[in-house]
Amino acid sequence: MVRAIDLSFPIGGNVSSMLETFTHKDSDYSKVFTSFSIDPLFTHAVNNFSMQKITLPSHTPYTAHLDAPYHELQNGKTVDQMPVDKFLGDAVVLDARSRSGRGVTLECVRKQLDEIQENDAVLLRTDWDKKYDSPEYFEGSPFISMELAQVLVDKKARCVGIDFPIPEDTERRKRNEPDAEKPVIHYLLLGNGVYIIESMANLHKISEKRPFLITLPLNIVGADGFPVRAVAVEGLKAK
Ligand SMILES: [Zn+2]
Repeated sequence: MVRAIDLSFPIGGNVSSMLETFTHKDSDYSKVFTSFSIDPLFTHAVNNFSMQKITLPSHTPYTAHLDAPYHELQNGKTVDQMPVDKFLGDAVVLDARSRSGRGVTLECVRKQLDEIQENDAVLLRTDWDKKYDSPEYFEGSPFISMELAQVLVDKKARCVGIDFPIPEDTERRKRNEPDAEKPVIHYLLLGNGVYIIESMANLHKISEKRPFLITLPLNIVGADGFPVRAVAVEGLKAK
């Protein structure tokens, strides 16, 4: 039997409450929380039908969203310039729960690397999404190591999906490392045609090692990313 697993969080009342738990409330980035709204254009009470105006940032850290190359690269592709077949196909789930520090490193998935095939969506499961409603979700979250990102590029992955908010080591800033502001993992992945799906939910609910994955954004001309309804489909392959 075919089974669909929803890998996106619902977007709703939780968005404003997430700003409460976001530890850098005063930063410019808090706009991603305050710029979500849903307002009536027509209502049942007045017009006998409903139509709404929905406002969203192109990157929604509170649910699964696509980073198109243009997000970080001035000459990178926008969503409409990416072929639609990029957004669906085989995926492989790598279990990264054994990580010892914050980093999802080559070491913690080394034994599973052979399972990555060309054009796969590589889903890195850390179970960090279980902290979704806590302040910790954005603070001290996992990141992808440079070495692992390079292997995913070398293996010609189609995309990388993560169940945490951002693939960068955001603590580098606190340690005052040189170029700490530079999103080096984004540059490496997006610069080599590997797009990123951030803030995915429920990777732990996937039971197949290689499910079919759908992560379709709306085809908005010039968009640097877009929320996606990410779905893993199991039971498609003959046993
Ligand atoms: Zn990103």
